[in-house]
Amino acid sequence: MIYIFKKKWYRLLVVGIATLLLIGFESICSNAIQASTPPKNVSESQNASAIWQQGSFPVENFQSYTSPFGYRISPIDGKPQFHNGLDLAAPRGSYIRSWWSGKVTKVSDNTNCGTSITIESGTWKHSYCHLEGHVERDNSGIYMLDAGGGIKIFQGQEVPAGARIGRIGMTGNTTGPHLHWVLRYRGDYVDPALVLKEMFKRQTVSSIHEQ
Ligand SMILES: [Zn+2]
Repeated sequence: MIYIFKKKWYRLLVVGIATLLLIGFESICSNAIQASTPPKNVSESQNASAIWQQGSFPVENFQSYTSPFGYRISPIDGKPQFHNGLDLAAPRGSYIRSWWSGKVTKVSDNTNCGTSITIESGTWKHSYCHLEGHVERDNSGIYMLDAGGGIKIFQGQEVPAGARIGRIGMTGNTTGPHLHWVLRYRGDYVDPALVLKEMFKRQTVSSIHEQ
């Protein structure tokens, strides 16, 4: 009995520590972060362990993962499809943060992805779909404007990791407010859940060592 009680208590403690670290981590990321490139391979754990922590969790007020990466039945038309990203649900209007520092290579608002931004970080590309706002252009260039969220992101500009780059919206093909988050390494899709696992595995491990 005592053993079970202790085990439960310990688990609660670990979850608590992980949450606290996550909050601390997010606030660190909201400050300007140094430029760097994510590791080449998700499983290159030894050298990559420290660097993964430079990534930012992409959604504020995160609620749940509503659809994983991979093959699934489309919620739009009921047909089998390859879901090339991870869906992260959050209340409409919640801010989205850039996973990594990089250069905005594309802003768009005329595909299934809705109003979207793509950022290039070395050999990685990360895209954010279904945002609030729309694309505009003037003499200064092409940009995504979300006036309600106070966000204007130019195609070609640099963004630090953790920077607010948009808000959760309902643009494009979507059944509810969520971020459709896509990661590509050298053009190939990568499951974002694997990357998040690497990012947070390191934090949990180091928190236990500090005890
Ligand atoms: Zn999706």
